[in-house]
Amino acid sequence: MSKFWSDFVKELVPYVPGEQPKIANLVKLNTNENPYGPSPKALEAMRAELGDNLRLYPDPNSDLLKQAVAEYYGVQPRQVFLGNGSDEVLAHIFHGLFKHDQPLLFPDISYSFYPVYCGLYGIPFEAVPLDEQFQICVEDYARPNAGIIFPNPNAPTGCVLALDAVEALVKASPDSVVVVDEAYIDFGGQTAIALVDRYPNLLVTQTLSKSRSLAGLRVGLAVGHPDLIEALERIKNSFNSYPIDRLALVGATAAFEDQAWFEQTRQAVITSREQLVAQLQDRGFEVLPSAANFIFVRHPHQDAGELAARLREKGVIVRHFKQPRIAQFLRISIGTPEQNQALIDALG
Ligand SMILES: *Cc1c(COP(=O)(O)O)cnc(C)c1O
Repeated sequence: MSKFWSDFVKELVPYVPGEQPKIANLVKLNTNENPYGPSPKALEAMRAELGDNLRLYPDPNSDLLKQAVAEYYGVQPRQVFLGNGSDEVLAHIFHGLFKHDQPLLFPDISYSFYPVYCGLYGIPFEAVPLDEQFQICVEDYARPNAGIIFPNPNAPTGCVLALDAVEALVKASPDSVVVVDEAYIDFGGQTAIALVDRYPNLLVTQTLSKSRSLAGLRVGLAVGHPDLIEALERIKNSFNSYPIDRLALVGATAAFEDQAWFEQTRQAVITSREQLVAQLQDRGFEVLPSAANFIFVRHPHQDAGELAARLREKGVIVRHFKQPRIAQFLRISIGTPEQNQALIDALG
């Protein structure tokens, strides 16, 4: 702490990302990265862009990518907002759409960046408990609020909310914005983007970090009514005009166009997930039903913190959250079949 800091900085409680270890040969199953790597066409597009052009600023509106995203989801480009990772998109959403008198609502167990943004922007919030099965109860959100946000599938549980339940939630709060954070939707859920034309208070965010294996490129997006998008554009253009750099612009566009790679890798992750679930259940683990590229598991007789520490000694890293209700769970990202087998062997 220093006298030079603005007052509010003294109160900030920053997000703590999962470890990115510098040690080689670790089986890294702790931050939900995709084990299969980006589309070769995306890599090729970025190689072609890598040259003298980098002296020029990128297109501030990222029109090429907006067009590709709009076409992919069957919406208009003016319904699309882009940011430097969906974390940045979420930051602008909190800042621009959630700061009102009533509290923002989100599940008690969900993405731990949400309370951090509330702290950064001074947004009051209430955490709404998941039920005993770790599911979102739509009825619990039918109360005065300044907005609602939840990941679907939820993180770190992996549990998905059906599209009709999402719609019921959006309908029940017509006077506030409902944000569905679909970072993991491609691994098992139905996207709510299909509903944005009917509900002007619905905003859906997605990222290229998980299902398109581009966590290192930092590209995220939101789709919703043009009035919501305009608020985000205003903030973006008051903050950083160029959040999507030249490499990210062409790489992300090519990734959206490579449907074959997307399908093949996403299916491989889903198939491995089902195999790993069965193997862990055989070993006595309880596994929450997952529609994501990770699973949330607990063992009835093994302490989760200890288990994580011992797996680490054997070169396998998974995520453990020292939080109420979930302290006995481990979140395990789905790796390649070889990585998943290494986890099973380490457990043995
Ligand atoms: C990974 C993740 C994000 C952020 O992804 P970016 O890499 O910033 O695009 C957002 N929400 C949830 C729930 C996530 O798990």
